[in-house]
Amino acid sequence: MSREKSKPEAKSAADFIPPDPTLPRLTEAAASCTGCNLYKQATQTVFGEGPRKAKVFFVGEQPGDQEDRAGHPFVGPAGSLLNKALIEAGIARGETYVTNAVKHFKWEPQGKRRKHKKPNAAELAACKPWLQAELNAIRPKVVVCLGLTAAQSVFGRAVRLGDVRGTFHKTSLADDVFATVHPSSILRHPEKEQRDEEYRKFVSDLRLVRERLSSHHPEG
Ligand code: SF4
Repeated sequence: MSREKSKPEAKSAADFIPPDPTLPRLTEAAASCTGCNLYKQATQTVFGEGPRKAKVFFVGEQPGDQEDRAGHPFVGPAGSLLNKALIEAGIARGETYVTNAVKHFKWEPQGKRRKHKKPNAAELAACKPWLQAELNAIRPKVVVCLGLTAAQSVFGRAVRLGDVRGTFHKTSLADDVFATVHPSSILRHPEKEQRDEEYRKFVSDLRLVRERLSSHHPEG
């Protein structure tokens, strides 16, 4: 009696990391990741993007609705705000790599909209091998966590954003880790005055990152 062997279900992204994991190979391999359930509902994997020698590495939470459709990170409203803030803070976009703690869009229906849903701890852990592999390939000077979910993934533990925001930390993933808010949280403030104030604080945080970058040795 012959029984067809079913393929064991992947438990994390670790099963998909290619040997000799260069950035292009990682991007290609991540496109078929089924390391957690998030791929089922999303359009496609949205992997990180930026130069291999990027000095600063931004980590957000997850791709949003527009990123999910486009297949590129930070192309929606939060990405535009990040770009604007980078210019004001004096950080060249060409020096930055942008990615997310999970690479698939998690959402729930709300009328005709796809409402963003926060990834849980198991999903963050399942996707972390991609984040680690991106960091290994790039070796940036500074890693910037945008928002609490990114900080939890990079710090590897539950943290309060208020406790870690605006200062530099060493974590098991990287030596120089900084945390600030996610630009989408700025956009969510209903009052313009409050949005402007939060945006100013965000730009000040990014200026600290720029100063930190210039304090690193320019080469190496
Ligand atoms: S969220 Fe990460 S681990 Fe889960 S399927 Fe997508 S790429 Fe794989």
